[in-house]
Amino acid sequence: MPELLEQDLHPTFSALYSAQQITRAKAVDFIFSPPPNFLLQSQISFAENHIDSGVKAIYTDGSKTDEGTGSAYCILENYGIIASWQGKLDRSNLVFQAEILAIRMAIAAASSLHRPTKIWTDSLSSLMAILNPKSHHSVVREIQTLLLSHKHIHLRWLKAHVGYLGNECADQLAKEAITKGDPFLLTKPLSYLKAKIKSAALSIWQDNWDNGETGRSTHDIVPRVSNKTVGWNREEIMFVTGHGPFPSYLLRFNLRTHDNCSCGEKGDPIHYATKCPFTLSWHFQTPTVSLKLQWLKNILKNSTSTPNAFHM
Ligand SMILES: [Zn+2]
Repeated sequence: MPELLEQDLHPTFSALYSAQQITRAKAVDFIFSPPPNFLLQSQISFAENHIDSGVKAIYTDGSKTDEGTGSAYCILENYGIIASWQGKLDRSNLVFQAEILAIRMAIAAASSLHRPTKIWTDSLSSLMAILNPKSHHSVVREIQTLLLSHKHIHLRWLKAHVGYLGNECADQLAKEAITKGDPFLLTKPLSYLKAKIKSAALSIWQDNWDNGETGRSTHDIVPRVSNKTVGWNREEIMFVTGHGPFPSYLLRFNLRTHDNCSCGEKGDPIHYATKCPFTLSWHFQTPTVSLKLQWLKNILKNSTSTPNAFHM
């Protein structure tokens, strides 16, 4: 959503209006009223008093389905279409981008008409973005600049799907544009790029995790990388990773000369958890080789509810 929404809904915005005005104003009027000093406010209206008249009017619309995204406008005169444009966008493009693009193309068409023209849209979010003086959206910025230099062009909101001829035509053209429109290259939305980057980063991480040489005992239990924590406590982490006060671990860092437990066997976590006579009363039952992974997962799941080697 454009930044304007949050900004305009914020209570501090009400400083521009008296408390009485706010109480009296209908919610929709208040929310969508631009700052009184913003230059474009005289050219943009949300008032719903649409009449399909003979006045030059351009209707815009955007559409998005599983197949793709389409953008279109049509120019109506005396209830007939005299010109139209259809743009086929990428599947990743948002319906908001399609709506904004249709308005941008309609303004280009209107600017060459050199006569008062109304451009109609059913997209409130588009008009609100255009009214936002701080918008960073490049097409929105273009629209703002064009409107400021073409005072005869007005943007108007109308309600969708209530039978306005022009709106129905634009809606139909935008739907058609998904498959039949001229391909139009628009930058991908930020949300799409962020998702792509995240997925690529996870994929590289997964590859490193699968093909790494360290942390193999942890890899057995947690083979898929994720940004979510596994939720293990300190003892569970030591048990799974083998990073703890075990002879096997201390040897790796030359803190011991051998990895034997005092009982003579190799002193790694599984030894203390299942075999070592010094930790007998805390033992788990030794798993069979084929079931070892499931066994590890089960004891990690149940470690908080049953007394066991973690509580040594
Ligand atoms: Zn031992």
